[in-house]
Amino acid sequence: MKNMQKAAMAVCLAGILFSGCGNQKAATPPPATSAQEATEKAQDTAQPPKKEAPAQLPYITATKDFDNLQLGAADIPVYDAYTLAERRANGMTTVLPELTPYQEKKVAYLTFDDGPDDVNTPAILEILRQENVKATFYVVGRSALTYPDIVKQIFLEGHAIGNHSYDHDYDRLYASVSQYLEEMEHTDEILHGIIGVRPLVTRAPGGRIGHFTEEYVSALAANGYVEHDWNVSSADTAPNHPVAQDFIDNIEGQATMDSPIILMHCSSGHEETVKALPGIIHVLRDRGYAFGVVTPMTPQPW
Ligand SMILES: [Zn+2]
Repeated sequence: MKNMQKAAMAVCLAGILFSGCGNQKAATPPPATSAQEATEKAQDTAQPPKKEAPAQLPYITATKDFDNLQLGAADIPVYDAYTLAERRANGMTTVLPELTPYQEKKVAYLTFDDGPDDVNTPAILEILRQENVKATFYVVGRSALTYPDIVKQIFLEGHAIGNHSYDHDYDRLYASVSQYLEEMEHTDEILHGIIGVRPLVTRAPGGRIGHFTEEYVSALAANGYVEHDWNVSSADTAPNHPVAQDFIDNIEGQATMDSPIILMHCSSGHEETVKALPGIIHVLRDRGYAFGVVTPMTPQPW
């Protein structure tokens, strides 16, 4: 009898190990989402991302081979579990595969550059939460070091984080391709240290036009960076002290294409952008746009 009980228990244990056994519901985690599956797949090597995300991960983590990035949904951020240094050290590719951009029509991408700060960025996050809208924050490495908790908040609330250089110094960034890459990689390391993953999307400070040569374009591709400029500008850095209504009008006038990528700023001094944001969201929503976050699949603005 004892042997039979033992045998039954062994079968049951085996059952638990492979497919669950008996009334395991209370202890069984909820069914994996595709985001979780993707993350778990990426976690099966040496350097997994930090486990600070909630059970329902608000992002996708790329696999070692970047073979899970052909996505259908435009509102889920995508990151890499590995830094470039880790990829090189482990013989993993740093080059993204060819991806077909999202086919969805009428998706607007709100993007906020130059943050985070500790006033305007949290205020913008609050408005986005109230409006149930996801956005993209192109952060500066030096500010990320100053406000790591705000970076974490952006990440955990399901917005996308992109790399916007270490300190936005045009003279140094555009002096040479190697300087540019060095700063981007330094910022990646900082962000990886804060959120446990690395952004795959970047925005060149000031935009690529007038700054990038062909050399920059091929060097970025070789290192798996996808750069997106914008096709709609709020002009919230214009020198004539524009106010919130100007930004709303600018966006209303320009956002007529299928995939507007809208330039705004969330660093200190951009209080008017905070004031304009609810109006900007309502204008876009009334025009029939859904809201997406920038990923490697986001269509280029031009
Ligand atoms: Zn900038």
